[in-house]
Amino acid sequence: MDYLIKATAFQGTVRAYAIQSTETVEEARKRHDTWATASAALGRTITISTMMGAMLKGEDKLTVKVEGDGPVGPIVVDSNSKGEVRGYITNPHVDFDLNNKGKLDVARAVGTSGNISVVKDLGLKDFFTGQVPIVSGEIGEDFTYYFANSEQVPSAVGAGVLVNPDHSILAAGGFIIQVMPGATDETIGGIETKISTIDPISTLIRQGRTPEEILALILGEENMKTHERMSVQFTCSCSVDRIKNAIKSLGNKEIDQMIEEDGGAEAVCHFCNEQYQLDVDDLNALKQA
Ligand code: ZN
Repeated sequence: MDYLIKATAFQGTVRAYAIQSTETVEEARKRHDTWATASAALGRTITISTMMGAMLKGEDKLTVKVEGDGPVGPIVVDSNSKGEVRGYITNPHVDFDLNNKGKLDVARAVGTSGNISVVKDLGLKDFFTGQVPIVSGEIGEDFTYYFANSEQVPSAVGAGVLVNPDHSILAAGGFIIQVMPGATDETIGGIETKISTIDPISTLIRQGRTPEEILALILGEENMKTHERMSVQFTCSCSVDRIKNAIKSLGNKEIDQMIEEDGGAEAVCHFCNEQYQLDVDDLNALKQA
């Protein structure tokens, strides 16, 4: 089962998150039939968004949108404080040759201009919205830029997805390291040096490094304290009742049209690709007297 950890380091002046998201990204791949480069783009976004969800409390949730000018089109991911995440990529059938670093060419799929936006639903109609331009299209760097410029929290963000020859997900994971006020220059410099000298995140996850091991590599095991370990999974809140309510709200005239013209109704959830079929009896039951 996938999981993430929350940790602090250097007397609480550094907050850190790391995640193993292989099964979660594989579930997204299967549901949306993503091809390799699209799997990496969606998978990196899911990986980071899940950690961002874990920064929230209670019933709070957030939506991340990556809207670049590349062929995959918008990527939309929802996550919450309970480790639940769902998401889709507009054009899942995108696959390119590896880039000149031998990696999946996510920037080419996502595009190198456009926007990343984050909407946090903090309950009682309290929303936080942040938006920044895409700076690289590689996702990890784009979220580093997002945290620094939209939330004013200097952060290092890494996310990687490896795909098997049969397109299934070999490994996925990532980290977010955030520097709080009070962190010393020595602490910050030390973390920067570590991040620039350790293997790339995709190599670490290929080696089977756990979230605990990844943070220990960056922060030093002796400096960090793990506070929470949380299961994470791809899960969607859609249901046949929600679909029925949506159809009910269209009104009797519209429902009669579905019955006469289509002999039923079919609805597909964008987020999880679940298909719902309603027959004539189902539709008749939704009409208001
Ligand atoms: Zn759904």
